Amino acid sequence: MSFWGAIEAGGTKFVCAVGSGPEDLEEVRFPTTEPQETLGRALEFLRAHHQRRPLTAVGIGSFGPIDLDPSSPTFGFTTTTPKPGWPHANIASTVRDALGVPVGFDTDVNAAALGEHRWGAAQGLDTFIYLTIGTGIGGGGMVGGRLLHGMLHPEMGHIPIPHDLNRDPYQGFCPYHGDCLEGLAAGPALEERWGKPAENLAPDHPAWELQAHYLALALAGFVCTLSPQRIVMGGGVMQQSHLMPMIHQQVRQQLNGYIHTTELMEAIESYIVLPKLAERAGILGALALAQQAG
Ligand code: ADP
Ligand code: ZN
Repeated sequence: MSFWGAIEAGGTKFVCAVGSGPEDLEEVRFPTTEPQETLGRALEFLRAHHQRRPLTAVGIGSFGPIDLDPSSPTFGFTTTTPKPGWPHANIASTVRDALGVPVGFDTDVNAAALGEHRWGAAQGLDTFIYLTIGTGIGGGGMVGGRLLHGMLHPEMGHIPIPHDLNRDPYQGFCPYHGDCLEGLAAGPALEERWGKPAENLAPDHPAWELQAHYLALALAGFVCTLSPQRIVMGGGVMQQSHLMPMIHQQVRQQLNGYIHTTELMEAIESYIVLPKLAERAGILGALALAQQAG
């Protein structure tokens, strides 16, 4: 039996796990502080298990942006992240060199997409996307059975969004773009615009109609661009169960019958869905990255 290591490297917290598969994972979690201390804690946990039962490989799903070009001297590093202390932090080879095992490294959202593909809501598909609507907005996924990479990796949260300043005078919080999708629709935007955290906004608050509007604009764009076979939406904000039906309705309204597929016309409830792995998508995705690397 092979044992695997997994790291969900988030901007707020790290989750580390070891095990042979989703059923027997042993996990620890701790806050993300500065890189040396945080990676040190992750390595301490993995090393202890590696000495008892050697790990075949480790998978890491990381917040970003990150360098995923295998020919780059800074492969496995973060790039321009605004998180203090974390720009140009070497993540992948720090882990590989410390443990001497292969390391699979990808974005947090590509990892979650891979987890949903192996064990969750995207099984059997070859082209789909996974989005998280949380502290930020990120998107990853697969096209033709391969995780989306390209020039860097997708940054689906930073697309421009039509913004009617009369309807919504809030300027957006993205330090690079102001009112990109993330700037208008991630959790902190809801909190800043309405004066309380998203989890405290009542289901009939006008916030949700506007939120569904912004997310539907983005989803309509992704449907037209990538033709995904399914869209999986996770992250804290999606825990509001009344939001998903509003998104379904508004995506159909945006597309206006032009893309005439069964998925959109008759079965949108099983086309735009929550992650089947719920909050475990990230760590199970990292496990799947390890299995792919080993
Ligand atoms: P992260 O993105 O840091 O991994 P989350 O996905 O939990 O973590 O996102 C945190 C954001 O989601 C915060 O802005 C928070 O207000 C919002 N959030 C968390 N839980 C809920 C909830 N149950 N309903 C609505 N918003 C939530
Ligand atoms: Zn932005």
